[in-house]
Amino acid sequence: MPVYLFNTAARHKEEFQPAHPGKVKMYVCGPTVYDYFHVGNARAFIVFDILRRVLERRGFEVTYVQNITDVDDKIINRARDEGRNPRELAGEFTAAFFQDLEALGCRRADITPRATEHIGEIIDLVSQLVERQHAYLVDGDVFFSVDSFPDYGKLSGKKINELESGARVEIDERKQNPLDFALWKSAKPGEPAWDSPWGPGRPGWHIECSAMSMKYLGENFDIHGGGVDLLFPHHENENAQSESLTGKPLARYWLHNGYLKIEGEKMSKSLGNFRLTRDVLKNIASRNNYQVLRFFMLSAHYRSPLDFNPENLEAAKKGFEEFGHTLEKISCLLSLSKGDHGEEPDEEAEKLKSERQKALDDFDRALDDDLNTAGAMGHMLILANTVRQLMAGRPKQMTTIRFQMLEKIRNDLLDMAGVLGIVPEIEELTGEVKRLILARDEDRKNKRWKEADEKRHHLVSVMGWIQDDLGAMGYTASTTTVKFYGEQNQKPDSNYLPSDLKKKKEDS
Ligand SMILES: [Zn+2]
Repeated sequence: MPVYLFNTAARHKEEFQPAHPGKVKMYVCGPTVYDYFHVGNARAFIVFDILRRVLERRGFEVTYVQNITDVDDKIINRARDEGRNPRELAGEFTAAFFQDLEALGCRRADITPRATEHIGEIIDLVSQLVERQHAYLVDGDVFFSVDSFPDYGKLSGKKINELESGARVEIDERKQNPLDFALWKSAKPGEPAWDSPWGPGRPGWHIECSAMSMKYLGENFDIHGGGVDLLFPHHENENAQSESLTGKPLARYWLHNGYLKIEGEKMSKSLGNFRLTRDVLKNIASRNNYQVLRFFMLSAHYRSPLDFNPENLEAAKKGFEEFGHTLEKISCLLSLSKGDHGEEPDEEAEKLKSERQKALDDFDRALDDDLNTAGAMGHMLILANTVRQLMAGRPKQMTTIRFQMLEKIRNDLLDMAGVLGIVPEIEELTGEVKRLILARDEDRKNKRWKEADEKRHHLVSVMGWIQDDLGAMGYTASTTTVKFYGEQNQKPDSNYLPSDLKKKKEDS
């Protein structure tokens, strides 16, 4: 099945075909390490993490490069404000970036080059641009000349004259065209600087991505990704300076994820509504906190804007926890039964078999259609729901066929969740819990209601298993409604009587 991706450069969905069959070379703009990254950045990192997993699932060998911008005005300014060494500050936030990335359940890129370790490559690229008259020197600064690249604006679809009039507001007299941008900045006192043919200085931002992506992936690699906020000017400039030299677009497919809004507003320093990823994760009260955040992010198409607000996050938490519980229940059922209650095929098992196949096909089809994670997740949840109904609505006994089907579906659900990076931490059924369930069953058989009830309380308060679940697994005979003491620190109601016992009282 082919994979289709929306290529910003082409303005439509295209069948994805890498330059070299079976191999994908992919570059995604990384962080400027002057602070912890916010949830808007997290969205981009998650989207491209999943793209990588989907491509690998399709059998491609993916080389994923993500840069670290570790020299930049923002780093220098913050270091100066805090009286610190910029290099040390950047080192600290680089370490934090990797930590937070891992906390988000994202796999690290294969290569994570740092700008400061590629100054040689950057100087080389700038020299070539100067030599071929795509760049010019003013007072130790080197600027790229957008007029030297007639296609300037083609990637972002911007009109050059509109851009020029917009840019005149902050005109720098030294530039030939207001849209020209710095490739090399001359050193100011106290700033990090490297020697160059134009005197001591440091690279501008855009040039590092061209230098590092071309070094590791070649002149015309497969996929370049990033948030839509980077499309202009960053990606436009990356492409202009590279294509000026090579005659080829820097990348064959350009992918951009949509904005993440914060409660309906654009995230900005001036509105003070930045949400740092590490704070967001801390505030999600769940042992599955990163899975919940990803579940939320994946609930919209990656190119659509998405609103981050407490209600949406809470809905994601509920949705994800229900999915996690289903997996827990399946595991519980599988560990309690061996499926040794007969071999007869039944309608339910057949139905499950066909629904399983449909869910698997639909899941993959959705992901192949421009990474439709919301659709894929929907198909995964439909399968989980089907199983949940089967477990709740049916029978105390597990046939071999059902057992095998359930085991397969459990593995499918884990596999699907794996592609999306949202495998729940499942509380495996411990030996103690299993013992309690079986002992309680004995108690009930022998009408030791008090003991049975104590065990039930324990199961409910410790494990969060409700009687309905136990019933669905065939471990209680009663179908009575029972209060749920799911909260672990909530004391069970001491006046509570199991309703079958209550019924006895009423009868007598
Ligand atoms: Zn970049």
